[in-house]
Amino acid sequence: MKAALHEEIGKPLSVVNDVDLVGPKEGQVLIKTEYCGICHSDVSVMDSLDLTPMILGHEAAGIVEEIGDGVTSVNKGDYVLMTPIGPCGNCEMCILNRYTLCERGQSFVFGTLPDGSTPFSWNESPVYQGLGVGGFAEYTVLEERNVVRVEKGIPLETVCLIGCGVQTGVGSVLNTAKVTAGSTVLVMGLGGVGLSVVQGARIAKAEKIIASDPVKERRSKALKLGATNVIDPDNDDLINAVMELTLGKGVDYAFDAVGNSELIALGLTVSKTGGSTVIVGAPPPDEELKFPSSLHLMMSEKRLLGSLLGSCNAQKDIPLLVEYWQRDLLDLNNMISQTYSLDNINSGIDDLRNSIGIRSVIKIHET
Ligand SMILES: [Zn+2]
Ligand SMILES: [Zn+2]
Repeated sequence: MKAALHEEIGKPLSVVNDVDLVGPKEGQVLIKTEYCGICHSDVSVMDSLDLTPMILGHEAAGIVEEIGDGVTSVNKGDYVLMTPIGPCGNCEMCILNRYTLCERGQSFVFGTLPDGSTPFSWNESPVYQGLGVGGFAEYTVLEERNVVRVEKGIPLETVCLIGCGVQTGVGSVLNTAKVTAGSTVLVMGLGGVGLSVVQGARIAKAEKIIASDPVKERRSKALKLGATNVIDPDNDDLINAVMELTLGKGVDYAFDAVGNSELIALGLTVSKTGGSTVIVGAPPPDEELKFPSSLHLMMSEKRLLGSLLGSCNAQKDIPLLVEYWQRDLLDLNNMISQTYSLDNINSGIDDLRNSIGIRSVIKIHET
């Protein structure tokens, strides 16, 4: 089958036609992948991770081709979304409702299925399954709990965004931070994840949603999707601007959707006494967080929260997010700027690197 391979750090993906696939084994599902969004984490892996070759792509939707023994929640022909972390429901973390920390779900970091195997091979050597999905290929095999059934006939080219960006952004608001109605929110970085945070804050009925990004088109999108105020951090002093908009108090919740330690520290500065700063974007692995005053944090009881995939229980939250989209509470169309074929996937990756558009989606099959 055709797939895009990450072969070397910092190099474009190579599209090849002869990747092999095994499965589905017991408890697994074989999926014909139809659409897959390009997420910032794919590019971070391309630039830093030496687990190669690897098939990236983790914001994917498709149609079930075959089910393994024991699979009960989906059948051949079902429309499904895929999720990097599918909760097992039985481990300590799942029992504590910390679903994205599921012990069995952490294999996404290592590019394998939980049993350490990968369904992909190329020239008889294993190919890693990037971020738990391997969506930049014509077919993939996942465990049943990483597969979520959605309504048949639903436009997969649109709802695929829920698999990562929307789960991450909206989930960080509703699950991690638990933003309350009437509160004030700052969102830094307005790509697919940041705009999902904006929409989550609107769904949570935040009163003031301040959105910051140097790219004008992204600020305009944010205003369309629910932001009440926008800041251009290249031209305005972000701290002053936020303080002015909040009568000198700061915000209840600050979200870093970029994955940048300076922005996280800035969030801690502009969040109000008792407020929260949420790390939503993935910072580079070796980046350290520096904050000027630990005493200030202690005295102000400010909180710093990590948010992995929006702290979502994918099996419960993905259907809920689809329903939000169906009820027009969630605007996905305004987040998709471009569709590329798998052959042209590197153009989509260049767009993301150059902050062109919001989300590019890859149409995996030609016809
Ligand atoms: Zn678990
Ligand atoms: Zn992602």
